[in-house]
Amino acid sequence: MTPCQSSSPDLEKPPHSMLRHLTSKIKSTGPISVAEYMREVLTNPVTGYYVRNNMLGPDGDFITSPEISQIFGELLGVWIISEWMGAGRPKQLQLVELGPGKGSLASDILRVFSQLQSVLGEASVSLHLVEVSPTLSQLQAQNLTGNTSQEADSEDEPVYRRGKTTAGLPVCWYRRLDDVPTGFSVFVAHEFFDALPIHKFQRTEKGWREVMVDIDPEKPDHLRFVVTPSPTLASSTLVQADERRDHVEVCAEGGVIIQQLVRRITEDGGAALIADYGHDGTKTDTFRAFKGHQLHDVLASPGTADLTADVDFSYLRRMAGGGVACMGPVTQRTFLKNMGIDTRLQVLLRNCTDPNTRKQLISSYDMLTNRAKMGERFLFFSVLHQSRLAKPKKQDGLSLEKKKIPAQLPVAGFTELSFS
Ligand code: SAH
Repeated sequence: MTPCQSSSPDLEKPPHSMLRHLTSKIKSTGPISVAEYMREVLTNPVTGYYVRNNMLGPDGDFITSPEISQIFGELLGVWIISEWMGAGRPKQLQLVELGPGKGSLASDILRVFSQLQSVLGEASVSLHLVEVSPTLSQLQAQNLTGNTSQEADSEDEPVYRRGKTTAGLPVCWYRRLDDVPTGFSVFVAHEFFDALPIHKFQRTEKGWREVMVDIDPEKPDHLRFVVTPSPTLASSTLVQADERRDHVEVCAEGGVIIQQLVRRITEDGGAALIADYGHDGTKTDTFRAFKGHQLHDVLASPGTADLTADVDFSYLRRMAGGGVACMGPVTQRTFLKNMGIDTRLQVLLRNCTDPNTRKQLISSYDMLTNRAKMGERFLFFSVLHQSRLAKPKKQDGLSLEKKKIPAQLPVAGFTELSFS
Protein backbone atom coordinates (compact mmCIF):
# COMPACT_ATOMS: atom_id res chain seq x y z
CA MET A 1 0.00 0.00 0.00
CA THR A 2 1.43 3.26 -1.01
CA PRO A 3 0.36 6.65 0.24
CA CYS A 4 -0.19 9.07 -2.65
CA GLN A 5 0.22 12.79 -2.79
CA SER A 6 -3.33 14.01 -3.32
CA SER A 7 -5.12 15.43 -0.32
CA SER A 8 -8.19 13.44 0.64
CA PRO A 9 -11.44 14.54 2.20
CA ASP A 10 -11.93 13.28 5.75
CA LEU A 11 -13.51 9.85 5.81
CA GLU A 12 -16.84 9.54 7.49
CA LYS A 13 -16.27 10.08 11.23
CA PRO A 14 -15.60 6.73 12.85
CA PRO A 15 -17.61 5.59 15.78
CA HIS A 16 -15.66 5.45 19.02
CA SER A 17 -17.20 2.04 19.46
CA MET A 18 -14.03 0.24 18.35
CA LEU A 19 -11.95 1.87 21.08
CA ARG A 20 -14.74 1.20 23.58
CA HIS A 21 -15.00 -2.41 22.43
CA LEU A 22 -11.24 -2.92 22.81
CA THR A 23 -10.95 -1.23 26.21
CA SER A 24 -13.84 -3.22 27.66
CA LYS A 25 -12.31 -6.41 26.32
CA ILE A 26 -8.94 -5.55 27.90
CA LYS A 27 -10.62 -4.57 31.19
CA SER A 28 -12.36 -7.93 31.43
CA THR A 29 -9.64 -10.31 30.24
CA GLY A 30 -6.36 -8.39 30.34
CA PRO A 31 -4.03 -7.15 27.58
CA ILE A 32 -4.72 -8.55 24.11
CA SER A 33 -2.17 -9.82 21.59
CA VAL A 34 -1.26 -7.59 18.63
CA ALA A 35 -2.85 -10.28 16.44
CA GLU A 36 -6.15 -9.96 18.26
CA TYR A 37 -5.91 -6.18 18.11
CA MET A 38 -5.29 -6.28 14.36
CA ARG A 39 -8.05 -8.83 13.74
CA GLU A 40 -10.63 -6.79 15.69
CA VAL A 41 -9.63 -3.46 14.20
CA LEU A 42 -9.58 -4.68 10.60
CA THR A 43 -12.26 -7.33 10.36
CA ASN A 44 -14.66 -7.06 13.31
CA PRO A 45 -17.99 -7.79 11.58
CA VAL A 46 -19.62 -4.58 12.82
CA THR A 47 -16.98 -1.91 13.24
CA GLY A 48 -13.93 -3.36 11.42
CA TYR A 49 -11.96 -1.04 9.16
CA TYR A 50 -12.29 -3.28 6.09
CA VAL A 51 -15.92 -4.04 6.80
CA ARG A 52 -17.00 -0.39 6.92
CA ASN A 53 -14.77 1.44 4.48
CA ASN A 54 -13.85 1.78 0.88
CA MET A 55 -10.26 2.66 1.61
CA LEU A 56 -8.65 2.31 -1.80
CA GLY A 57 -7.75 5.12 -4.15
CA PRO A 58 -7.05 8.85 -3.98
CA ASP A 59 -9.98 9.54 -1.64
CA GLY A 60 -9.13 6.65 0.67
CA ASP A 61 -6.13 5.69 2.76
CA PHE A 62 -3.82 3.99 0.27
CA ILE A 63 -3.39 3.07 -3.38
CA THR A 64 -2.25 -0.27 -4.77
CA SER A 65 -0.53 -1.43 -7.98
CA PRO A 66 -3.71 -2.71 -9.73
CA GLU A 67 -5.26 0.73 -9.13
CA ILE A 68 -2.19 2.48 -10.50
CA SER A 69 -2.03 0.79 -13.90
CA GLN A 70 -4.03 -1.70 -15.93
CA ILE A 71 -0.73 -3.20 -17.14
CA PHE A 72 -0.20 -4.75 -13.71
CA GLY A 73 -3.34 -6.92 -13.91
CA GLU A 74 -2.76 -7.68 -17.57
CA LEU A 75 0.67 -9.14 -16.87
CA LEU A 76 -0.74 -11.21 -13.99
CA GLY A 77 -3.40 -12.47 -16.43
CA VAL A 78 -0.63 -13.63 -18.77
CA TRP A 79 1.11 -15.33 -15.82
CA ILE A 80 -2.06 -17.24 -14.94
CA ILE A 81 -2.56 -18.46 -18.49
CA SER A 82 1.08 -19.45 -18.68
CA GLU A 83 0.76 -21.54 -15.49
CA TRP A 84 -2.45 -23.09 -16.79
CA MET A 85 -0.55 -24.08 -19.94
CA GLY A 86 2.39 -25.33 -17.85
CA ALA A 87 -0.05 -27.62 -16.02
CA GLY A 88 -1.13 -29.21 -19.31
CA ARG A 89 -4.19 -27.02 -20.07
CA PRO A 90 -6.70 -28.57 -17.65
CA LYS A 91 -10.35 -28.35 -18.74
CA GLN A 92 -11.31 -26.32 -15.71
CA LEU A 93 -9.68 -23.11 -14.53
CA GLN A 94 -10.79 -21.49 -11.28
CA LEU A 95 -9.34 -18.04 -10.75
CA VAL A 96 -9.41 -17.44 -6.99
CA GLU A 97 -8.53 -14.01 -5.67
CA LEU A 98 -7.96 -13.39 -1.96
CA GLY A 99 -8.86 -9.85 -0.84
CA PRO A 100 -9.88 -8.38 -4.22
CA GLY A 101 -10.25 -4.73 -3.06
CA LYS A 102 -12.20 -2.88 -5.77
CA GLY A 103 -12.07 -5.81 -8.20
CA SER A 104 -9.73 -3.99 -10.59
CA LEU A 105 -7.10 -6.73 -10.66
CA ALA A 106 -9.68 -9.44 -11.43
CA SER A 107 -11.22 -7.23 -14.10
CA ASP A 108 -7.84 -6.63 -15.83
CA ILE A 109 -7.02 -10.36 -15.62
CA LEU A 110 -10.37 -11.31 -17.15
CA ARG A 111 -9.85 -8.84 -20.01
CA VAL A 112 -6.65 -10.72 -20.88
CA PHE A 113 -8.57 -14.00 -20.68
CA SER A 114 -11.06 -12.62 -23.25
CA GLN A 115 -8.25 -11.42 -25.50
CA LEU A 116 -6.53 -14.81 -25.27
CA GLN A 117 -9.75 -16.79 -25.68
CA SER A 118 -8.18 -18.68 -28.57
CA VAL A 119 -5.46 -19.94 -26.21
CA LEU A 120 -7.89 -20.85 -23.43
CA GLY A 121 -10.05 -22.67 -25.97
CA GLU A 122 -12.82 -24.74 -24.39
CA ALA A 123 -11.53 -24.42 -20.80
CA SER A 124 -14.33 -23.59 -18.41
CA VAL A 125 -13.26 -20.52 -16.47
CA SER A 126 -14.85 -19.29 -13.23
CA LEU A 127 -14.02 -16.51 -10.77
CA HIS A 128 -14.00 -16.99 -6.97
CA LEU A 129 -13.50 -14.05 -4.65
CA VAL A 130 -12.60 -14.41 -0.97
CA GLU A 131 -13.66 -11.15 0.64
CA VAL A 132 -14.52 -10.41 4.24
CA SER A 133 -15.94 -6.94 3.59
CA PRO A 134 -19.57 -6.58 2.47
CA THR A 135 -18.86 -2.99 1.40
CA LEU A 136 -16.00 -4.02 -0.86
CA SER A 137 -17.86 -7.05 -2.19
CA GLN A 138 -20.57 -4.70 -3.47
CA LEU A 139 -17.99 -2.56 -5.18
CA GLN A 140 -16.39 -5.65 -6.74
CA ALA A 141 -19.80 -6.81 -7.92
CA GLN A 142 -20.46 -3.41 -9.50
CA ASN A 143 -17.12 -3.46 -11.32
CA LEU A 144 -17.25 -7.07 -12.44
CA THR A 145 -20.91 -7.81 -13.04
CA GLY A 146 -22.37 -4.37 -13.63
CA ASN A 147 -24.56 -4.80 -10.55
CA THR A 148 -26.36 -7.92 -11.69
CA SER A 149 -25.10 -10.13 -8.85
CA GLN A 150 -27.37 -11.47 -6.13
CA GLU A 151 -26.86 -11.78 -2.40
CA ALA A 152 -27.56 -15.11 -0.70
CA ASP A 153 -30.84 -15.38 1.24
CA SER A 154 -29.20 -16.43 4.46
CA GLU A 155 -26.02 -15.21 6.18
CA ASP A 156 -24.88 -18.80 6.75
CA GLU A 157 -24.48 -19.62 3.05
CA PRO A 158 -20.80 -20.21 2.16
CA VAL A 159 -21.42 -18.35 -1.13
CA TYR A 160 -22.78 -15.00 0.08
CA ARG A 161 -23.08 -13.41 -3.34
CA ARG A 162 -23.06 -14.76 -6.88
CA GLY A 163 -23.38 -13.45 -10.40
CA LYS A 164 -21.98 -13.44 -13.91
CA THR A 165 -19.18 -11.21 -15.12
CA THR A 166 -19.88 -8.91 -18.06
CA ALA A 167 -18.18 -11.55 -20.26
CA GLY A 168 -20.60 -14.20 -18.91
CA LEU A 169 -18.28 -16.06 -16.51
CA PRO A 170 -19.70 -17.30 -13.20
CA VAL A 171 -18.42 -15.40 -10.15
CA CYS A 172 -18.97 -16.26 -6.46
CA TRP A 173 -18.04 -14.53 -3.21
CA TYR A 174 -16.91 -16.32 -0.02
CA ARG A 175 -15.80 -15.15 3.40
CA ARG A 176 -13.15 -17.86 3.80
CA LEU A 177 -10.82 -19.74 1.48
CA ASP A 178 -12.14 -23.01 2.94
CA ASP A 179 -15.51 -22.36 1.28
CA VAL A 180 -14.11 -22.17 -2.27
CA PRO A 181 -14.85 -25.39 -4.19
CA THR A 182 -11.97 -27.72 -4.95
CA GLY A 183 -10.59 -28.08 -8.48
CA PHE A 184 -7.64 -26.82 -10.53
CA SER A 185 -7.18 -23.24 -9.37
CA VAL A 186 -4.80 -20.36 -9.75
CA PHE A 187 -4.81 -18.27 -6.57
CA VAL A 188 -3.86 -14.62 -6.56
CA ALA A 189 -3.28 -12.57 -3.41
CA HIS A 190 -2.19 -8.98 -3.87
CA GLU A 191 -1.78 -6.96 -0.67
CA PHE A 192 -3.81 -9.56 1.20
CA PHE A 193 -1.26 -11.23 3.49
CA ASP A 194 -0.06 -7.88 4.86
CA ALA A 195 -3.54 -7.29 6.28
CA LEU A 196 -3.57 -10.57 8.23
CA PRO A 197 -2.97 -10.41 12.00
CA ILE A 198 0.60 -10.69 13.27
CA HIS A 199 1.97 -11.60 16.68
CA LYS A 200 4.90 -9.50 17.89
CA PHE A 201 7.72 -10.86 20.03
CA GLN A 202 10.57 -9.17 21.88
CA ARG A 203 13.81 -10.80 23.00
CA THR A 204 14.42 -10.00 26.69
CA GLU A 205 17.03 -11.08 29.22
CA LYS A 206 14.59 -13.76 30.34
CA GLY A 207 13.88 -15.04 26.84
CA TRP A 208 11.23 -14.31 24.21
CA ARG A 209 8.17 -12.40 25.38
CA GLU A 210 5.02 -11.39 23.52
CA VAL A 211 4.17 -7.73 22.88
CA MET A 212 0.56 -7.04 23.87
CA VAL A 213 -1.86 -4.11 23.70
CA ASP A 214 -3.05 -2.65 27.01
CA ILE A 215 -4.87 0.44 28.28
CA ASP A 216 -2.51 3.28 29.16
CA PRO A 217 -2.93 3.74 32.96
CA GLU A 218 -2.08 7.44 32.65
CA LYS A 219 -4.61 8.08 29.86
CA PRO A 220 -7.58 5.70 30.04
CA ASP A 221 -8.74 6.49 26.48
CA HIS A 222 -5.36 5.54 25.05
CA LEU A 223 -3.78 2.23 24.29
CA ARG A 224 -0.11 1.29 24.69
CA PHE A 225 2.18 -1.65 24.03
CA VAL A 226 3.37 -3.80 26.94
CA VAL A 227 5.64 -6.85 27.08
CA THR A 228 4.30 -9.89 28.95
CA PRO A 229 6.24 -10.77 32.14
CA SER A 230 6.15 -14.49 31.31
CA PRO A 231 6.02 -16.48 28.04
CA THR A 232 2.69 -16.89 26.24
CA LEU A 233 1.62 -19.90 24.20
CA ALA A 234 2.40 -17.86 21.07
CA SER A 235 5.87 -16.77 22.24
CA SER A 236 6.80 -20.35 23.11
CA THR A 237 5.55 -21.85 19.84
CA LEU A 238 5.93 -19.26 17.08
CA VAL A 239 9.52 -18.04 17.49
CA GLN A 240 12.16 -20.16 15.73
CA ALA A 241 14.73 -21.74 18.07
CA ASP A 242 17.64 -20.28 16.05
CA GLU A 243 16.09 -16.81 15.62
CA ARG A 244 18.77 -14.11 15.53
CA ARG A 245 16.70 -10.94 15.48
CA ASP A 246 15.71 -9.18 18.71
CA HIS A 247 12.19 -8.44 17.59
CA VAL A 248 10.05 -10.61 15.30
CA GLU A 249 6.57 -10.54 13.81
CA VAL A 250 4.87 -13.82 12.97
CA CYS A 251 1.67 -14.03 10.94
CA ALA A 252 0.34 -17.42 12.04
CA GLU A 253 -2.89 -16.87 10.09
CA GLY A 254 -0.83 -16.34 6.91
CA GLY A 255 0.90 -19.65 7.67
CA VAL A 256 -2.46 -21.43 7.93
CA ILE A 257 -3.63 -19.93 4.61
CA ILE A 258 -0.41 -21.00 2.87
CA GLN A 259 -0.94 -24.53 4.16
CA GLN A 260 -4.50 -24.53 2.80
CA LEU A 261 -3.18 -23.35 -0.57
CA VAL A 262 -0.49 -26.04 -0.52
CA ARG A 263 -3.05 -28.75 0.21
CA ARG A 264 -5.31 -27.61 -2.61
CA ILE A 265 -2.47 -27.26 -5.11
CA THR A 266 -1.10 -30.68 -4.19
CA GLU A 267 -4.50 -32.39 -4.42
CA ASP A 268 -6.17 -30.59 -7.32
CA GLY A 269 -3.29 -28.91 -9.17
CA GLY A 270 -2.78 -25.22 -9.68
CA ALA A 271 -0.55 -22.40 -8.51
CA ALA A 272 -0.56 -19.42 -6.18
CA LEU A 273 0.90 -16.00 -6.81
CA ILE A 274 1.41 -13.82 -3.75
CA ALA A 275 2.56 -10.22 -4.09
CA ASP A 276 3.06 -7.91 -1.16
CA TYR A 277 5.26 -5.60 0.86
CA GLY A 278 7.74 -7.92 2.35
CA HIS A 279 11.11 -9.26 3.33
CA ASP A 280 12.81 -12.62 3.49
CA GLY A 281 13.08 -13.06 7.24
CA THR A 282 15.30 -10.03 7.89
CA LYS A 283 13.09 -7.19 9.12
CA THR A 284 11.94 -6.56 12.68
CA ASP A 285 9.29 -3.95 13.48
CA THR A 286 7.16 -3.31 10.38
CA PHE A 287 3.71 -2.90 11.96
CA ARG A 288 2.24 0.41 10.79
CA ALA A 289 -0.95 2.26 9.96
CA PHE A 290 -2.06 4.43 7.04
CA LYS A 291 -4.73 7.07 7.13
CA GLY A 292 -5.44 9.53 4.34
CA HIS A 293 -2.22 8.41 2.60
CA GLN A 294 -0.11 9.31 5.64
CA LEU A 295 1.57 7.13 8.26
CA HIS A 296 -0.53 7.03 11.40
CA ASP A 297 -0.02 5.85 15.01
CA VAL A 298 -1.05 2.16 15.02
CA LEU A 299 -2.79 2.43 18.39
CA ALA A 300 -4.54 5.78 17.87
CA SER A 301 -8.27 5.91 16.94
CA PRO A 302 -8.44 2.20 16.05
CA GLY A 303 -10.73 1.35 13.17
CA THR A 304 -10.10 4.59 11.28
CA ALA A 305 -6.78 3.63 9.69
CA ASP A 306 -5.45 0.66 7.76
CA LEU A 307 -3.11 -1.61 9.72
CA THR A 308 -0.41 -3.52 7.91
CA ALA A 309 2.78 -5.50 8.49
CA ASP A 310 5.38 -6.58 5.94
CA VAL A 311 4.99 -10.18 4.83
CA ASP A 312 7.79 -12.49 5.97
CA PHE A 313 8.22 -14.66 2.87
CA SER A 314 10.78 -16.90 4.59
CA TYR A 315 8.02 -17.85 7.04
CA LEU A 316 5.55 -18.55 4.21
CA ARG A 317 8.15 -20.74 2.47
CA ARG A 318 8.81 -22.64 5.70
CA MET A 319 5.08 -23.14 6.25
CA ALA A 320 4.63 -24.32 2.64
CA GLY A 321 6.96 -27.25 3.38
CA GLY A 322 8.67 -29.53 0.89
CA GLY A 323 5.66 -30.97 -0.91
CA VAL A 324 5.36 -28.07 -3.36
CA ALA A 325 7.76 -25.95 -5.39
CA CYS A 326 8.19 -22.35 -4.23
CA MET A 327 9.59 -19.59 -6.43
CA GLY A 328 10.90 -16.25 -5.23
CA PRO A 329 10.50 -13.89 -3.63
CA VAL A 330 11.69 -11.64 -6.45
CA THR A 331 11.17 -7.91 -6.54
CA GLN A 332 8.14 -6.46 -8.32
CA ARG A 333 10.53 -4.73 -10.73
CA THR A 334 12.16 -8.04 -11.69
CA PHE A 335 8.84 -9.85 -11.95
CA LEU A 336 7.16 -7.21 -14.12
CA LYS A 337 10.23 -6.81 -16.34
CA ASN A 338 10.46 -10.58 -16.78
CA MET A 339 6.77 -10.53 -17.72
CA GLY A 340 7.48 -8.01 -20.47
CA ILE A 341 6.22 -4.74 -18.93
CA ASP A 342 8.61 -2.70 -21.13
CA THR A 343 7.23 -4.20 -24.35
CA ARG A 344 3.64 -3.75 -23.13
CA LEU A 345 4.31 -0.10 -22.31
CA GLN A 346 5.79 0.46 -25.78
CA VAL A 347 2.71 -1.08 -27.44
CA LEU A 348 0.36 1.12 -25.41
CA LEU A 349 2.43 4.22 -26.16
CA ARG A 350 2.53 3.41 -29.86
CA ASN A 351 -1.27 3.31 -29.92
CA CYS A 352 -1.76 6.48 -27.91
CA THR A 353 -1.44 10.04 -29.15
CA ASP A 354 -3.01 11.93 -26.26
CA PRO A 355 -0.08 13.58 -24.42
CA ASN A 356 -1.78 13.38 -21.01
CA THR A 357 -2.51 9.67 -21.32
CA ARG A 358 1.06 9.06 -22.51
CA LYS A 359 2.40 10.94 -19.50
CA GLN A 360 0.15 8.94 -17.22
CA LEU A 361 1.24 5.62 -18.75
CA ILE A 362 4.90 6.50 -18.25
CA SER A 363 4.47 7.76 -14.69
CA SER A 364 2.48 4.69 -13.61
CA TYR A 365 5.13 2.43 -15.19
CA ASP A 366 7.72 4.34 -13.19
CA MET A 367 5.68 4.03 -9.97
CA LEU A 368 5.42 0.24 -10.38
CA THR A 369 9.01 -0.48 -11.40
CA ASN A 370 11.24 2.27 -10.01
CA ARG A 371 13.53 0.85 -7.32
CA ALA A 372 12.87 3.83 -5.07
CA LYS A 373 9.08 3.56 -5.48
CA MET A 374 7.20 0.25 -5.61
CA GLY A 375 9.80 -1.65 -7.64
CA GLU A 376 11.79 -3.07 -4.75
CA ARG A 377 9.50 -2.79 -1.75
CA PHE A 378 7.04 -5.25 -3.25
CA LEU A 379 7.94 -8.88 -3.71
CA PHE A 380 6.44 -11.73 -5.74
CA PHE A 381 6.33 -15.29 -4.44
CA SER A 382 4.76 -18.35 -5.95
CA VAL A 383 3.67 -21.82 -4.82
CA LEU A 384 3.49 -24.43 -7.59
CA HIS A 385 2.61 -28.08 -7.88
CA GLN A 386 5.79 -30.11 -7.45
CA SER A 387 5.47 -31.65 -10.93
CA ARG A 388 5.67 -28.17 -12.45
CA LEU A 389 9.42 -27.95 -12.03
CA ALA A 390 10.26 -31.65 -12.17
CA LYS A 391 12.66 -32.64 -14.92
CA PRO A 392 10.92 -34.75 -17.57
CA LYS A 393 11.96 -38.41 -17.13
CA LYS A 394 14.34 -39.84 -19.70
CA GLN A 395 12.69 -42.55 -21.77
CA ASP A 396 13.80 -46.03 -20.84
CA GLY A 397 14.86 -48.69 -23.32
CA LEU A 398 15.75 -48.51 -26.96
CA SER A 399 13.55 -46.69 -29.31
CA LEU A 400 14.01 -46.66 -33.05
CA GLU A 401 12.31 -43.34 -33.33
CA LYS A 402 13.96 -40.55 -31.38
CA LYS A 403 11.05 -38.96 -29.58
CA LYS A 404 11.46 -35.39 -28.44
CA ILE A 405 10.86 -35.02 -24.71
CA PRO A 406 8.74 -31.90 -24.22
CA ALA A 407 10.67 -29.21 -22.40
CA GLN A 408 9.11 -27.78 -19.23
CA LEU A 409 7.73 -24.29 -19.72
CA PRO A 410 9.74 -21.85 -17.61
CA VAL A 411 7.80 -20.18 -14.79
CA ALA A 412 7.03 -16.75 -16.18
CA GLY A 413 8.03 -13.74 -14.10
CA PHE A 414 10.58 -15.61 -12.01
CA THR A 415 12.89 -16.28 -14.93
CA GLU A 416 13.61 -14.04 -17.86
CA LEU A 417 11.70 -15.23 -20.89
CA SER A 418 13.52 -15.06 -24.17
CA PHE A 419 11.53 -14.87 -27.36
CA SER A 420 14.36 -15.92 -29.70
N1 SAH B 1 -5.99 -6.76 -3.56
C1 SAH B 1 -6.53 -5.43 -3.55
C2 SAH B 1 -6.96 -4.96 -2.16
C3 SAH B 1 -5.94 -4.96 -1.07
S1 SAH B 1 -6.62 -4.42 0.49
C4 SAH B 1 -5.54 -4.47 -4.16
O1 SAH B 1 -4.36 -4.79 -4.25
O2 SAH B 1 -5.95 -3.39 -4.58
C5 SAH B 1 -6.94 -5.95 1.33
C6 SAH B 1 -8.14 -6.71 0.84
O3 SAH B 1 -8.26 -7.92 1.60
C7 SAH B 1 -9.48 -6.01 1.00
O4 SAH B 1 -10.32 -6.40 -0.06
C8 SAH B 1 -9.98 -6.56 2.34
O5 SAH B 1 -11.35 -6.39 2.55
C9 SAH B 1 -9.55 -8.00 2.23
N2 SAH B 1 -9.34 -8.71 3.48
C10 SAH B 1 -8.61 -8.29 4.54
N3 SAH B 1 -8.57 -9.25 5.50
C11 SAH B 1 -9.28 -10.29 5.02
C12 SAH B 1 -9.60 -11.59 5.54
N4 SAH B 1 -9.18 -11.98 6.73
N5 SAH B 1 -10.35 -12.41 4.77
C13 SAH B 1 -10.77 -12.03 3.53
N6 SAH B 1 -10.50 -10.81 3.00
C14 SAH B 1 -9.77 -9.95 3.74
